[in-house]
Amino acid sequence: MPESSGDDFERTIVFGESAIERIRAYRHPAYPRIYEVWYTYATCYNPLLNQAINDVLKKRGTLSEQDLDALYDMHLSAARFPTRYDEVGTKIREEVDLMVEQLDKARNSSDAYNSALDGISQSVDGADHEKVKTIIGNLLRATIEMRSANGELESQLVQSKQEMLKLHDKLEAIRAESLTDPLTLLSNRKFFEMALEKALSEGKPFSLLVTDIDHFKLFNDKYGHLTGDQVLRLVATAVKQNVKGQDIAARYGGEEFAIILPGTTLRPAVTVADHIRRAVMGKELVKRSTGENLGRVTISIGVATFHSNDNAATIIERADMCLYAAKRAGRNRVVCETDPEVHNATTNRVA
Ligand code: GH3
Ligand code: MG
Ligand code: MG
Repeated sequence: MPESSGDDFERTIVFGESAIERIRAYRHPAYPRIYEVWYTYATCYNPLLNQAINDVLKKRGTLSEQDLDALYDMHLSAARFPTRYDEVGTKIREEVDLMVEQLDKARNSSDAYNSALDGISQSVDGADHEKVKTIIGNLLRATIEMRSANGELESQLVQSKQEMLKLHDKLEAIRAESLTDPLTLLSNRKFFEMALEKALSEGKPFSLLVTDIDHFKLFNDKYGHLTGDQVLRLVATAVKQNVKGQDIAARYGGEEFAIILPGTTLRPAVTVADHIRRAVMGKELVKRSTGENLGRVTISIGVATFHSNDNAATIIERADMCLYAAKRAGRNRVVCETDPEVHNATTNRVA
């Protein structure tokens, strides 16, 4: 699949200029991390970061350098996932310590109860009426204490269990975020690569679709890259709406999506691809801010299916050859690996 090229020059300059404008407006020092926050804000690639910045701006009308530092640590720092993992890890350790402490307490009170019982059984032999009454009184007291210790332990364990379930959900959320593309909310390339390896190792039938937007550079040049990014979201929605639960749809690169269809052979995969293609073509693009009609975009799709001797590179290369053939044949079409036009095309693209 093609990597982004020098076309990124104009797109990234726009983001850079916007970042510098903000730095000027808020009189922040242009340190790399502050620049990175504003640059990312301009791209809208990280909706959580944008939301957090907008919240602070709404509340206070400005952002301090400290605010930006905190936002950077939370949303951009390369260390943010390990840090959040560590936080959850520490909380889990604290919860486990608490449980062990409660269990120790319960063991102590159970030991005390046992020795109380031992004492009573020794003194019961030959005891008179009064003494039996005292013994029963002691027995009752020890039993009540034991019961309350058990009750405490039980409610503590219930609380700990709830806490552990919450921490488990947090870990899941961190994991999911690290494998999600922030712009489209599809899986990211890392997740796609893991999923493809898994599908290959299972050795069961599956197919791979690779899509690429047609003449997207022209679209960006005409309407700007931010509008182009909205189109990426729209294509992602069309993809999502035409795949099923077990299918894996990922943003593979800038304007390219890759979709794994487990349990799907070539023909049905071509049908899915065609549904996606038609869904994208069917959407009329309207710029939300101005109501301007931007026409439509189309996509081309290459489809390959699993062969028993495939590895990630070979199946991606076949799907990519098909995509390239679809482009050569005029775009806005689906080409699969058994179509004749594939063999007339050569690709110089790198997977
Ligand atoms: P083709 O029909 O041959 O695919 O033509 P194309 O212009 O779409 O060419 P190519 O597939 O090489 O697309 C690269 C362009 O896609 C460059 C850039 O303008 C755009 N692009 C890549 N990533 C992004 C992105 O994240 N956002 C936006 N808005 N545009 C992107
Ligand atoms: Mg491309
Ligand atoms: Mg393209």
